[in-house]
Amino acid sequence: MQLFKQQTLKISNSLSGKKDVFKPIKEGYVGMYVCGPTVYSNVHLGNCRTFMSFDMIFRYLKHLGYKVRYVRNITDAGHLENDAEDGEDKIAKKAKLEQLEPMEVVQRYTVDFHETLQQFNFLSPSIEPTATGHIIEQIEIIKEILKKGFAYVANGSVYFDVIKFNETNDYGKLSGRKLEDMIANTRALAAQDEKKSPQDFALWKKAEPQHIMRWPSPWGDGFPGWHLECTAMSTKYLGDTFDIHGGGMDLKFPHHECEIAQAEASTGHSPVNYWMHANMLTLNGKKMSKSTDNNIYPNEIFSGENSILSKPFSPSVVRFFMLQAHYTSILDLSDDALLASEKGFYRLMEGLKNLETLAAGDTTDFDIPSWEQRCYDAMNDDFNTPILISHLFEAVKHINLIKEGKENITTKDKASLQNILHTFIFDVLGLEDQQESSGNSKTLSGVVELLIQLRNNARANKDFATSDKIRDELLELGVQLKDGKDGTTFTVN
Ligand code: AMP
Ligand code: ZN
Repeated sequence: MQLFKQQTLKISNSLSGKKDVFKPIKEGYVGMYVCGPTVYSNVHLGNCRTFMSFDMIFRYLKHLGYKVRYVRNITDAGHLENDAEDGEDKIAKKAKLEQLEPMEVVQRYTVDFHETLQQFNFLSPSIEPTATGHIIEQIEIIKEILKKGFAYVANGSVYFDVIKFNETNDYGKLSGRKLEDMIANTRALAAQDEKKSPQDFALWKKAEPQHIMRWPSPWGDGFPGWHLECTAMSTKYLGDTFDIHGGGMDLKFPHHECEIAQAEASTGHSPVNYWMHANMLTLNGKKMSKSTDNNIYPNEIFSGENSILSKPFSPSVVRFFMLQAHYTSILDLSDDALLASEKGFYRLMEGLKNLETLAAGDTTDFDIPSWEQRCYDAMNDDFNTPILISHLFEAVKHINLIKEGKENITTKDKASLQNILHTFIFDVLGLEDQQESSGNSKTLSGVVELLIQLRNNARANKDFATSDKIRDELLELGVQLKDGKDGTTFTVN
C-alpha cells in the first residue's frame, strides 16, 4: 500500500528506551491499543490529556495514510482500589456507596467520558471493548498461563508466578526495574497471604459472598484481575503481537509490565513492538488525580465555575494548550498558561481568516514546500506538536506580511497554503474554529436577553401568563432563567 506521504516516523519507545523508526508489522496498517478509563467517576482534565495525546497520534497516523485499528477499552470491572491486589473493586465500591447497580455506575460514567471527549473533538476509536464483555477470553488466557506453569491456584484465586516467569523471561524490562530490587524492597508476606511472593499478581480473584460483581469460572465464582483485561482485549482484536500500546506514564508499572508478562507467558512472545507513554498533567505542580482533590473537570473549565481560573476557556483553547507541550513532557495547568494559549489560538484562527482575504500576486516570497516539510519533520520526530505549532505561527507571520503588502503570494500557492494549514490545524491537531460557535452563542444570548426584557415588561404590566410562558418555554428549550437581586441571568444546558 502506498502511503499518502512517504515519511520516516520516529516514536519514543519505552521498551527500547529510545526513539525508534516506526515499522508496522503489516505495511500500511497499524494496530494500536490504549488503556481506557475506569468508569467509576467523571474523567478529569489529566485523564483527558492522555487520551488527547493518543487522539492526536491516531489522527496523524491516519493522515499519513495508514489504516489504523484503534482499540481503547472501558474498564468496568477488576480495577481494585489504589491499583492494589487487595481492597474493593472501584466500581463495586461506588455502586454500594450510591446504592446503584454496578452497571448503572458504568453507564453513567461511560456516557460522561464520551460526552467529554466529544466536546474536545476526539475521533472515536475503531473498537471500544469492555472488560465485562470479555470474561470468557480472560478465563481462556488464565487456563493457558496455568498450563504453561506460570500461575497457581490458591483458595479459589489464581496468581501469576512472577519469580517462575523471571527465570526464563525478564520481568521489569519495560519499567527498568529488577526483580531482585523489588523483592529486597517489599515487606515479608503476611502469614494469611495466599500469594507465594509479594510480587505475584492476581489473574483471577475469588469473590467473597458480599462481592456483587462476580462470574463463574473453573476456580469458582470470582472476577478477573485488572491487568488481564487489557491482554485479553488487545490480543483479541489486534493479534498476539501488535504495533502500538499506549497509556499514561503511571500505567507503565505494574499494569503494562504485567500485561507483557501475561502475554509472554501465554503465547511465548512479546505482545507489543512500540510501547508509548504519555506524560502527566499537573496542577500546582502535583499530578492531577481522582483520589486526591488535586484536579479540575473539563466542564468546570468550559463554564468558568472553578476556583482556579480567572475565566472560562473553550475546549479548543484547552486542546491547543495541551498540544503546545510534547506528549512526553509534564505539563502544568495554570491560568497564565491558558490565557497565553487562548491568545495564541485566536492569533492562529485570525491568520487563517486573513489568508482567505489576501490579494494574490505574481510571485510567492514564502518557500511553502520547505515549510511544509518542516511541519512533517516535526510530527515525524515523535509527534512533536509544539514544534509543529511554532511552524504554523511562522506561516501566520508570512500571512501578515503579505497582508501588509511586504510579501506576495500567488493564487495557486495561497490555495496550497490554505490546504496545508487546514490539514494540520483541523485534521491532525483536531482543533475546531470555535469563534464560529461563539458567534452563534452571541446570537443566542442576544435573543434570550430580548426575551428577558419582554418578560420584565409583562411582569410590570402584571401579565403573569405571558411572563410565565416565556420562562417555561425557554426552560423546555434548555434555557434556565434565574431571578436575582441584580436582575435576571440565564444558563444554557
Ligand atoms: P484511570 O481511569 O484512572 O485508569 O485513568 C485513565 C488514564 O488517564 C490512564 O491512562 C492514566 O494514566 C491517565 N491519567 C491519570 N491521571 C493523569 C494525569 N494527571 N495526567 C495525564 N494522564 C493521567
Ligand atoms: Zn490497560
